[in-house]
Amino acid sequence: SGGATTKDNAVVSSVINPWTGMPYSQSYYEILEKRKTLPVWQQKDEFLKALKANQCIILVGETGSGKTTQIPQFVLESVNAETPDGKRMMIACTQPRRVAAMSVSRRVAEEMDVKIGEEVGYTIRFEDCSSTSKTLLKYLTDGMLLREAMADPLLERYKVIILDEAHERTLATDVLFGLLKKVLRNRPDLKLVVMSATLEAEKFQGYFSGAYCMKVPGRLHPVEILYSEEPEKNYVEATIRTVVQIHMFEGPGDVLVFLTGEEEIEDVCRKIDKEIAKLGDQSGPVKVLPLYSTLPPAVQQKIFEPVSSGRKIVVSTNIAETSLTIDGIVYVIDPGFSKQKVYSPRGCVESLLVSPISKASACQRAGRAGRTRPGKCFRLYTEKSFHNHLEAQTCPEILRSNLANTVLTLKKLGIDDLVHFDLMDPPAPETVMRALEVLYSLGALDDEGNLTKLGEIMSEFPLDPQMSKMLIFSPGFHCSNEILSICSMLSVPNCFLRPREARKAADEAKAKFGHMDGDHITLLNVYHTYKKNDEDPVWCCQNFVNEKALKAADNVRQQLAQIMARFNLKLCSTDFKSGDYYINIRKALLAGYFMQVAHLESNTGHYSTVKDNQVVHLHPSSCLDHKPEWIVYHEYVLTSRNFIRTVTNICGDWLAEIMIALEKSGKKLGYGGLTLKDRKQTT
Ligand code: ADP
Ligand code: MG
Repeated sequence: SGGATTKDNAVVSSVINPWTGMPYSQSYYEILEKRKTLPVWQQKDEFLKALKANQCIILVGETGSGKTTQIPQFVLESVNAETPDGKRMMIACTQPRRVAAMSVSRRVAEEMDVKIGEEVGYTIRFEDCSSTSKTLLKYLTDGMLLREAMADPLLERYKVIILDEAHERTLATDVLFGLLKKVLRNRPDLKLVVMSATLEAEKFQGYFSGAYCMKVPGRLHPVEILYSEEPEKNYVEATIRTVVQIHMFEGPGDVLVFLTGEEEIEDVCRKIDKEIAKLGDQSGPVKVLPLYSTLPPAVQQKIFEPVSSGRKIVVSTNIAETSLTIDGIVYVIDPGFSKQKVYSPRGCVESLLVSPISKASACQRAGRAGRTRPGKCFRLYTEKSFHNHLEAQTCPEILRSNLANTVLTLKKLGIDDLVHFDLMDPPAPETVMRALEVLYSLGALDDEGNLTKLGEIMSEFPLDPQMSKMLIFSPGFHCSNEILSICSMLSVPNCFLRPREARKAADEAKAKFGHMDGDHITLLNVYHTYKKNDEDPVWCCQNFVNEKALKAADNVRQQLAQIMARFNLKLCSTDFKSGDYYINIRKALLAGYFMQVAHLESNTGHYSTVKDNQVVHLHPSSCLDHKPEWIVYHEYVLTSRNFIRTVTNICGDWLAEIMIALEKSGKKLGYGGLTLKDRKQTT
């Protein structure tokens, strides 16, 4: 045991890294010693034997046992040891979260002593950091593996596919389960490893019948659970109070706080800093670090760095529940909420809502406190509410999603019989029917439910069907340049910054971009002005514009433009001086979003949706300063009220006009099936 001696090092550093042909660096050996202490190393031989003997393995292991970082390396070594020289085998490891794919692949590249993007890479939507000729181990989001399957249905470039974080049961992972079951039958040489942090393994084993199941015992220390005596009125305040108490009265050890989203996290980080500063020198120093998905990678990496003195306090979204493991955590604060997707099939609306977590989630969160030594978990809810009000498991995402995009992907993958497609938890037939209807009315499916030519093209865009439809038809409205920019802006996080201490200035800055026709055009204004100012960071800062978001939009725009070029979709604009410049853009919005129109009811003064007569309210973030009679909206936000966000004024008369135009141009392009007529409901 123990680290390598100097003498050993002198010997081993002449060892050549087989992946790069270069001698290993010093840090390789240092990390290797740490890696060897991870629980999965105890079962390396057992795992590799099982991999040889079985086509499908289910690996269950406590979070932090080394599944995500180590297993893919074991697999890579083993499959490449057997192959004749020259041809190296590629491995994929999926992650439900973009951040995890990025962060873990960087760590693994470091562990293997290679450069990220070369032998080890990652692929997430709109960002590919991998090399076709070099990459052997690729971490990618589950959604991206599904996209790859569209072009390569048997996933032939991979020798082993690892579906990680299977317990999260994301929509894309569930679809991959069904797809890979089929692929395994057609490719006896392919192997599948399903990794999960919880003991739902029996369910997985029943589904992948015949799979070899392996458990990695964790090395959890006891965690003391403390509940609130009374329900908390305000969980944010309770969180801050608890952090301060831990810092004042508990022994050394880092703190992990679970909150729901970026804004809340940034706010709480600031408040914790303030409260602890008030304590003065009597308490030791703290380092408060936020962790959420849109944080730049360099900042994320800070989470893993040990602090030289004092206490580290990480305030994180659900990412830290199972995807990322931070060493040294002794105290966990669990207010009991996370942002979850909810879906109401009635209005076909999907929303992110702050909702109570499940018991399983609460246990995972508590477990994060006991990795290094005995820890404590402060649940900011009562014991009674834990037992009586929390669901046992989080409901799989597929049961609370709008399936339009998924059905389109499946159709493109050649899976037409959705009823008999083998899913672990099949969605309600009503939800599938709704998705088929949406795709049919967009013209992606024909009367027989087959993919149209338009549907094929739509499926090539990594966007929602409405958005890809709008983009595909935008050249016909002479504004594809502008619609492309709007799509890009809609695909990145909110570009308007609104810091608490400068709200008024931020609102004034935003108002300058405001366009009387609405928010889509306001977004276009921001993008244009950003480009006109040569992407100047100072300009961004002065105008409360999120530079990261704009940069990302620029990148998205380039990638979407490439896909458009592949299908000969021209980039064009209406003359800016023409009276039709904005009219054309607003009409083009309707080409994709004609199902998302609301009308102002003169008797009540409320908007109601045209599709299903729901009362909706303009979101306070809207730049519209009046209430136009007709509006098209980008999204429906279900919070305390039904809000519609990102809205633009349209003309009621355009609806019929556009439907006729769509049908005509659809026919001309051979797209077919673009009608509004009601479709018989057949099963
Ligand atoms: P599992 O997938 O079983 O939850 P992981 O493979 O993610 O476990 O983590 C194994 C170990 O690797 C943990 O101790 C974690 O702290 C460490 N680790 C992961 N990513 C990083 C990183 N970027 N920097 C430092 N350590 C890391
Ligand atoms: Mg993991």
